[in-house]
Amino acid sequence: MATFRQRALNEAAMHATGRYYAEEGPVSAYFGQNVLDLDKMRGYMSQQAYEAVLASVKFGAKLDRSVSNEIASGMKAWAIEKGATHYTHLFQPLTDSTAEKHEAFISFKDGKAFEKFNGSALVQQEPDASSFPNGGLRNTFEARGYSAWDPSSPVFIMDGTLCIPSVFVSYTGEALDTKAPNLKSLHALSVAAVKVANLFDDNVKAVNVNLGIEQEYFLVDESLYNARPDLMLTGRTVIGHTSAKDQQLEDHYFGAIPSRVSSFMKDFETEAYKLGILLQTRHNEVAPNQFECAPVFCEATKAIDQNMMLMIIMQKVAEKHHLKVIFHEKPFDGVNGSGKHCNWSLVTDTGVNLLSPGKTPTKNLQFLSFYAAVLRAVHRHHYLLMTSVATLSNSYRLGGNEAPPAVMSVFSGSTLYGVFQSIMNMKDMKESVKSDLESIKIVNAIPEIFPDNTDRNRTSPFAFTGNRFEFRAVGSSQNVASAVYVVNSVVAESLNEFRASVDELVAAGEEQSAAVMAVVRRFITEAKDIMFEGNGYSKEWELESEARGLKAVRNVPEAYEVYHEDKTVQLFDSLGVLAPNEVEARFEILNETYVKKLQIEARIIGDICLNHVIPASVKYQNILIENIKGIKDIFGGEYMNFCSSEIETLKKISTYINNISADVDALVEARKKANRIEDIGERAKVYSYEVKSMMEKVRFNADNLEMLIDDEMWPLPKYRELLFF
Ligand code: ADP
Ligand code: MG
Repeated sequence: MATFRQRALNEAAMHATGRYYAEEGPVSAYFGQNVLDLDKMRGYMSQQAYEAVLASVKFGAKLDRSVSNEIASGMKAWAIEKGATHYTHLFQPLTDSTAEKHEAFISFKDGKAFEKFNGSALVQQEPDASSFPNGGLRNTFEARGYSAWDPSSPVFIMDGTLCIPSVFVSYTGEALDTKAPNLKSLHALSVAAVKVANLFDDNVKAVNVNLGIEQEYFLVDESLYNARPDLMLTGRTVIGHTSAKDQQLEDHYFGAIPSRVSSFMKDFETEAYKLGILLQTRHNEVAPNQFECAPVFCEATKAIDQNMMLMIIMQKVAEKHHLKVIFHEKPFDGVNGSGKHCNWSLVTDTGVNLLSPGKTPTKNLQFLSFYAAVLRAVHRHHYLLMTSVATLSNSYRLGGNEAPPAVMSVFSGSTLYGVFQSIMNMKDMKESVKSDLESIKIVNAIPEIFPDNTDRNRTSPFAFTGNRFEFRAVGSSQNVASAVYVVNSVVAESLNEFRASVDELVAAGEEQSAAVMAVVRRFITEAKDIMFEGNGYSKEWELESEARGLKAVRNVPEAYEVYHEDKTVQLFDSLGVLAPNEVEARFEILNETYVKKLQIEARIIGDICLNHVIPASVKYQNILIENIKGIKDIFGGEYMNFCSSEIETLKKISTYINNISADVDALVEARKKANRIEDIGERAKVYSYEVKSMMEKVRFNADNLEMLIDDEMWPLPKYRELLFF
């Protein structure tokens, strides 16, 4: 009797290796061919229109209606040349995905067909917002939402459609997406950072964020995936016994990439290159069938948009290879989960990386100022930062023994850490600075020893890696914008305070560099508890961090309460990133999403147990019963001597079956109880305490049954098959 699993295994064995998108010539020959970048735009519009776009990209100037028609028609001409038939505003709703609604260019007038795309269609679209989460920002009778082109992100063509990266706002102007607050946070950060950078260099007029986003993912054979309803509906396996071999030998990490996977990689890279995504690294990750790719860093908005595009491309290309890309943070229990490391740095419009220590005392004082401001920001809002990556799926990963811990800390590396210690220990700032520029000497010592940034701490959620911070706790399925605008905001607030404090000291008669040094010292001292150089996975750190007053995110809905704290609301409001009602909307949406996702998981684990696990177990139970009966027929009273092991197994199976059906009932009850709770925050909490723990009980029984039942009869692909196809 062939189970669905066996058929899937046969199919998987037949899935061939091959390439589908091979391009002629070097990558440079087709790199960026599907993006309308600034350079190309020049050829499709007048100088005046081009300059309007340029001003919009560089300084955020509003696009004037008078030129938008011309820009649109230039875009249309380019798109049609490239064979596009449709256009879409691509936006990033609060669901961590992208949304698109395609419109055809084709139009009809006076009996004639022609392609139409005008300025208003470019600048503003009106998708029905009613189906997107809005957290009460939109009255039900007012379903309208607007999407508008974000000129800082170029338009591109995918699958014959001109894609227009857009922000998404409600009828009354509140942000319904992650892009709008991110753009605002980048602006606030630039303003704040310029004020501090100007202490060292008057020429700085803008400061940008650079992001390099490393994407981890799993690959699973499509047929095996289709035979796992839990993977299909939730992105993770809700049951499944660990494989005898998983990652313990660490023979997968950085190992040779299997040829089926490498064909897939080459194909999606080709598509990514055409869209101007500069993918640079690819390698096997720690878990079996886990991989990573990373582009070269670039300006934040572009990096985020490209990451969202990359995720779409990877999924599309995988279809051709009969593969499924799993972006879920923890698809398989017991092996490593996936993250999306966000490499974050600050660069001036004059080309200086503000997080790169330099060779001169001034450059170093500048570096220390920015570093101190980041430290203080991360310390002050450590719980908010950790919450910015708290989702149901990421909660299965964080705090595990192979993922960043659930509590925030900053790793600086021994050299820098030593510098901070000496700064904190300096006896008299004024004295030393005035007499022999003592402090600057310390600063000056950095470059000599610094280039050795080999001491990398993999256990830190926020690590300094030589010229940037790496936020490692971000989840692999997340739109990083929701974490990045929090980083930008907390750092902007801190830089504003930094400059204000320096100004105060200078006004009181302090010499400027002494004032800067004094503020650096104050910020570092105030934030010293966030610095941790040790093993983030250890029990000691769990206790130590608690003693230091650092709050860990141990429960996701509890963490969301941080959005109700004055400190948070004030932060976003004062910087103009999110108004209080927009923060409240996010609180609601996050909780709603948490509940919905957990609800789906709870249903699917119930279904799988009732429809797959129990029936298979009962079948095997019957075989054992027949067997025991037969032995009894033959051996009579002595039968126990010949089938004690079958009887033991039968007892175990019967117990697990009983447990599992009782637990599934209890799970349904827990869900019903939670669903009766009106308040969304409270409902999410009950889901997290009761529904989640019931699911664990159900799983325990199912995984034990998997170990006992005849392999031939087990209906679902096993971990060893999913992880080692
Ligand atoms: P690792 O896995 O060793 O951390 P990767 O090479 O996989 O390193 O990824 C590092 C990422 O950091 C790349 O995307 C890279 O472009 C990016 N990066 C390097 N320098 C900076 C910088 N100054 N600012 C932001 N990102 C950077
Ligand atoms: Mg990497």
